[in-house]
Amino acid sequence: MIENFSVSEILENFHQLYFAWTGIEVTFKSFCLMLSVALTIAITLFIMLIAALCNFVAYLWIKRQNKRIEFVKTTSERYKALLKINEMFQFHNELSQESLIFFECSSKQQYDHFQPNNHMLNYICEKSDLFSVIIRMAEENQENFALYTEAIRNLPPAVSEKEAALKKYKYKRYAKIETKLVEDAYLTPVLYPDYFLEYSYRSPQGRNFYHNTVRFYFGKIQDLYEQALHLEKSKQSREYQRSLMTPKLRYEIMTRDGHRCVICGRDASDGVKLHVDHIVPVSKGGMTVASNLRTLCEECNLGKGARYDEDGIN
Ligand SMILES: [Zn+2]
Repeated sequence: MIENFSVSEILENFHQLYFAWTGIEVTFKSFCLMLSVALTIAITLFIMLIAALCNFVAYLWIKRQNKRIEFVKTTSERYKALLKINEMFQFHNELSQESLIFFECSSKQQYDHFQPNNHMLNYICEKSDLFSVIIRMAEENQENFALYTEAIRNLPPAVSEKEAALKKYKYKRYAKIETKLVEDAYLTPVLYPDYFLEYSYRSPQGRNFYHNTVRFYFGKIQDLYEQALHLEKSKQSREYQRSLMTPKLRYEIMTRDGHRCVICGRDASDGVKLHVDHIVPVSKGGMTVASNLRTLCEECNLGKGARYDEDGIN
């Protein structure tokens, strides 16, 4: 009866068969164990065999594919011409497409009022030498790349069916490999390096973490660099104007003003100290020339500070 046929009955039959064949008497239980061990070994061997076969096939395929690529490399006019053009162009490869700058705020308030633009401007001011190099390299890459693109336009065309037939090669296969080779060989220098500014604040116990990232495109970096140069220039001119204030000039101005304060009229005999003052402060673009200088006593001078009344009541 088929319905009563169970696994143990099948094994029982094998067991008896095994005994009849070898004449070795084993218990039913140890026979089952032997059988399962044998099966496991057989399956393992089989899997190993399949894996080895797969590896071997893959190895053969890769070897063949490499041979095909090598063939296209040495016979494709388009590819060879591209390599020659590549040799003619030198790009600055030390530029990175994206650079990340971190800033950690010391308080939540600083984080809330953080001004990425100002921070980046200060950063560029501090590293203006570095940014001048980066911007110059990027601009050179842009100029060179325009020439490179022009040169590439004159590359020989991709392989034709006729040419492939002459090389005794399957056209589709050849064209596919050639296209891939050419695509991979194109030079892709960094033209517009971007900057990311990430600013963050972590609360003392580390319970809260706030952060934000702002992207500065290369055009923005260029703008900020121009601003940084301008700031540096006006700072230098302020320093220059201050350096023009020589003891000789100071004496000349005091002599012109009769060695007395032009506001209150007091002089050294009244026990006041006399200063020579910029009418329009240097910090506001005032220059160190006689027409912008006057003699003031310390009191009047300090009272004035760096204020300047545009209406001329100074
Ligand atoms: Zn005075």
